[in-house]
Amino acid sequence: MSDVSMFNLRIGQGIDVHPFGAATPLVLGGVTIPNHSGLKAHSDGDAVIHALVDALLGAAGLGDIGSYYPSEDPVHAGKNSRIFLVETHRKLSALGFRLINADITIMTQSPKLLPHIPAMKDCLAQDLQCEASQLNVKGTTTDHLGFIGRKEGLMTSAVVLLHQG
Ligand code: MG
Repeated sequence: MSDVSMFNLRIGQGIDVHPFGAATPLVLGGVTIPNHSGLKAHSDGDAVIHALVDALLGAAGLGDIGSYYPSEDPVHAGKNSRIFLVETHRKLSALGFRLINADITIMTQSPKLLPHIPAMKDCLAQDLQCEASQLNVKGTTTDHLGFIGRKEGLMTSAVVLLHQG
């Protein structure tokens, strides 16, 4: 990383929230998590990827996920969110951005995420063409407080650091 100048560093943040209750499976970070209600959304509801895409676009100064993939556009109905991530990575690469690291937090009361985190990191690393070690994915609960604590939905947060050069 000796070629990384601190003057070309860009930080970005993304947040996403979706309610549980979909008939479709729960998909987080590209990984299908069995035996749990899915997230209601226009796409496949992968809130990890949605927050990550928003963070990447934010760091690059390119707006937000909704401006590229509007939820009212029927073409995105039920769409695999990994497509959003791959396309966003391509867009950023073309502008000379590369990922230094990403830190992702999934706030949910259930299910238990720990067993699924290595697979999520592998999926995301594949789509971002980076090493899994550049990605951190962690889970937390809200200690039964609020809509997350009542298991009505979940929230995700992603912070990324990019280098442009
Ligand atoms: Mg979303």
